[in-house]
Amino acid sequence: MKKIALHWQILIGMLLGLLFGYLMIQVSGGKEFVENWINPLGVIFINLLKLIAIPLILASLVKGISDLKDISKFRNIGLRTMVIFIMTTVIAITIGLFLVNIFKPGNGISNETIERLTSTYSNNTGLQAKIEEASLQKDSGPLQFLVDMVPDNIFTAMSNNKLMLQVIFFTVFLGISMLLIGEEKARPLKNLFDSLNDAVLKMVDLIMISAPVAVFALLAYVVVSSGDPDLLYALLKYSGVVVLGLILMIVFYCTVIFVTTRINPFWFLKKMSPAQLLAFSTSSSAAVLPVNMKIVEDEIGVDKEVSSFVLPVGATVNMDGTSLYQGVAAVFISQALGFHLELTDQLMIVLTALLASIGSAAVPGAGMVMLVIVLESIGFPANKLAIGLALIFAVDRPLDMCRTVINVTGDAMVSLIVAKSVDKIDYTKAKRM
Ligand code: ASP
Repeated sequence: MKKIALHWQILIGMLLGLLFGYLMIQVSGGKEFVENWINPLGVIFINLLKLIAIPLILASLVKGISDLKDISKFRNIGLRTMVIFIMTTVIAITIGLFLVNIFKPGNGISNETIERLTSTYSNNTGLQAKIEEASLQKDSGPLQFLVDMVPDNIFTAMSNNKLMLQVIFFTVFLGISMLLIGEEKARPLKNLFDSLNDAVLKMVDLIMISAPVAVFALLAYVVVSSGDPDLLYALLKYSGVVVLGLILMIVFYCTVIFVTTRINPFWFLKKMSPAQLLAFSTSSSAAVLPVNMKIVEDEIGVDKEVSSFVLPVGATVNMDGTSLYQGVAAVFISQALGFHLELTDQLMIVLTALLASIGSAAVPGAGMVMLVIVLESIGFPANKLAIGLALIFAVDRPLDMCRTVINVTGDAMVSLIVAKSVDKIDYTKAKRM
């Protein structure tokens, strides 16, 4: 019997999960059943992926850097990557701001709806936790993000998925030092990391066997835990603007890929689909990182020298979907609550959403925490902050699912462009038009 392709298996799992979740909200006790008996399967799957993310970053980044043999090559790839990350993020925010200013989703929202949304969510514990987390972020100084990047203890850094950037810092430092001590002395360490890399990639294969069941569980849970359909409906125009912006980003990626590499964009999207579907189901770039690396290297043909640096750094730093969403959300909230924005405020949003998306952790809901910083930068009244966030909280999860797809696709696209610029694409794998 012909085996069904993985992306179809995952898609079928997702659809069945949606259907099952919908049926379960119709029966009494169905929600609890999904929470207690179905959701744990999804949680275990996400945990497994996150579990291997840190060893994978360690192994593949050390391998990637030490394979370069020359430190100037690393500088070259690093610099190109950062410039492209910043450019794509600024483009994403600009697209978001353009759409939200044209469609003005916040203007049509009635006071009654605002009241219903805020009274439903103002005291929501999930929202309160986000506001608290955000207030910790905003009390820090302007260079705090640099301080946060440098760990004082690598084991503490490795014990928290939100500290992935610290692990990357340590690993890059180690990889560069290995280059400097010379091949002979670095060989034992390199062999160790090479073999760890192969073993961890095998773990990805094994974990992916359970992906269709896991996404079934994850989506069933999303459906039973989603809010009042009426409130979701009230935010339809706002959600539509975010989703339209995200779709435009995909079009932008495809165009850039085609123009620079001549790779068939449909082929690229098809190859990426398992990673995209997982991003949608898990809402976490960190969890999808191992799968993304495997696809980009093994199937799309990007050399490890490039992907082992671009993808882990991209997962934490390059979030085009998140930054687009932050731009749209900040303007939407201002429109809905009658807070007037000047052009300079909108330019400020571009700058702060860029920084906020870099600072957002690659985990569910992180983008909304950092949105607070964007709102504060434009002088949004502090006493209305909780109301503003309550306004968009109902649809945060579905939008998080969508923006994570773009975050993950954007990282893969940048790795392709950087690989092209240093001639590191394997065209026996990559399919050109
Ligand atoms: N969930 C997103 C990610 O992991 C971050 C966010 O926008 O909340 O990429």
